[in-house]
Amino acid sequence: MKPSLEEMLRSSIRNIPDYPKPGVMFRDITTLLGNARAFRRAIDELVHPYAGSKIDKIAGIEARGFILGGAIAHQLSSGFVPIRKKGKLPHDTVRIAYSLEYGLDEMEMHKDAIEPGEKVILVDDLIATGGTAEAAAKLLRQMGADIVAACFVIDLPELGGRQKLEALGVPVRTLIEFE
Ligand code: AMP
Repeated sequence: MKPSLEEMLRSSIRNIPDYPKPGVMFRDITTLLGNARAFRRAIDELVHPYAGSKIDKIAGIEARGFILGGAIAHQLSSGFVPIRKKGKLPHDTVRIAYSLEYGLDEMEMHKDAIEPGEKVILVDDLIATGGTAEAAAKLLRQMGADIVAACFVIDLPELGGRQKLEALGVPVRTLIEFE
């Protein structure tokens, strides 16, 4: 029997135990990206609810969100905006601090990257606790973005990230779940 889309995507992701530290199961999407069929299907599936809608910008979270977000932007004929770790963008930026498991980090985007009222889709490879995507969504809202959705290939539902974004009024789209 032909595997379902979900099975095909799931089997294209490599699982690396204890990376980057003991107890973490790292979901490595480089194997999905390297598989032409899986990469295309993942992008097609992520964009299909938005096909035909006018989406002004795709905002990708560094670094894997850049790869997926670039492909999605092309598919939807949208612009692409990088959300980066602090200190990487060359022009004037807006910045937000957010908490990681240990300590704080900051992310930023160019001040002129989004016009108020623009329709934006936020993209990353995976949502875990949702802290990263929540900070990115807050930064986008600060710039006046109308966030249409946040899209991820992978959801780790036990960590509650989806609820965090939904509490901000951001609809969440994911393709596969892992425990
Ligand atoms: P969080 O802020 O907890 O939702 O974490 C999401 C960010 O961390 C995303 O940019 C993911 O790429 C990365 N991440 C978190 N947990 C994992 C994991 N188990 N495997 C791969 N990437 C992860």
